[in-house]
Amino acid sequence: MVVEEIAKVCTLTARVVVEANMGGISAVMGYGNHEQKAFCAQHVLAGDKPAICITEPDAGSAATEMRTTAQKRGDSYILNGTKHWITGGGTSKLYLVFARVLDEAGIDQGIGGFILFADLAAGEVPDGFRVMGREQTMGICGMPEAELRFENVEIDGKWLVQPQSGLKRGFAELMNAYNSQRVGAGTIAMGVAAGALERAKHYLLQREQFGRPLAEFQGLQWMLADMDTQVHAARLLLHEAARSRGPNGSQYPDMTMAARAKLFASEMAIKVVSDALQMFGARGYSDCEPLERMYRDVRMFTIGGGTAQILRTQIAGSILGIKTPQTRDGYTRLSEMERHAAVPDRRFA
Ligand code: FAD
Repeated sequence: MVVEEIAKVCTLTARVVVEANMGGISAVMGYGNHEQKAFCAQHVLAGDKPAICITEPDAGSAATEMRTTAQKRGDSYILNGTKHWITGGGTSKLYLVFARVLDEAGIDQGIGGFILFADLAAGEVPDGFRVMGREQTMGICGMPEAELRFENVEIDGKWLVQPQSGLKRGFAELMNAYNSQRVGAGTIAMGVAAGALERAKHYLLQREQFGRPLAEFQGLQWMLADMDTQVHAARLLLHEAARSRGPNGSQYPDMTMAARAKLFASEMAIKVVSDALQMFGARGYSDCEPLERMYRDVRMFTIGGGTAQILRTQIAGSILGIKTPQTRDGYTRLSEMERHAAVPDRRFA
């Protein structure tokens, strides 16, 4: 509810609030040990927004195909690879870097998250860590997305965050934390739409054409009613997801509810903000109203943090009760096996 109110007026501030409460930090708080939690909490409470580093040039939606490696050497790990589109890259101090963990012999142990501290402003940067430059984005420009390079960066082994289930299932477990981030991101999108709706309502009551307030035209009234209904539906889905918990005592929201809520809210917001802009006519298209900024801001929520297509795939998998691996081999092998294993409700069989 707080994030919604902030997003109504400033998408960027809402993102900082979400990322500092529900991004990489929630993975550390959920799976980290006492020292890791205390270290990260101290920086977040002092104002840092931790960066979460998953995406790579060749591993976007297919995140598990990441190539960044962390090879064990004594008590440390040596990190090598490239991450891009990292929000807060270069301005954050805490980085949760996901990498393929290799043992001393180079054998793949699974994916783990490493806490890395780099304060560029103070010149406290680990050797081999470089911020390569900023991505130019269409919206939410107050916080950078950056490409990061790791060249033989040495990290003490104590900064590896790994769930109790171990590294083999480590990525899936750590990504549970992303379910709260998704609820947060969906809430920002919904909040921007709610802000646009409020602005549109006031404008319809103020602006006159044909000698009448715009609010008297039924064509616009129906648009407004649809916008309000869509925002309300998204809010209910998000609240349901925020209240939910995943299976096995998870402290994070249910994956399907989070995916459903973010999917609906992010697509809804693009349409609602666009309709609000339309109601302002030329004024909406100009920079004397924040609507053109909101329209650019809101466009990203069907992409970042799990695209609309990937969320649909997750939701479909959950409805059908099957895994939905997207690689050719994985799909062919699993679908036959799982199709037979999935138990349909007898009433509809
Ligand atoms: P691709 O994976 O290349 O996808 C391209 C298109 O194909 C998309 O429409 C996608 O939905 C579709 N597609 C891909 N696979 C399938 C499939 N199996 N079925 C159907 N459609 C498919 N990443 C981080 O790690 N940390 C961050 O802080 C971060 N911040 C971001 C901030 C912004 C503003 C943006 C835009 C992105 C950010 N990202 C971040 C990256 C983001 O998570 C990725 O952009 C996202 O996962 C998609 O990856 P991609 O861009 O490589 O697209």
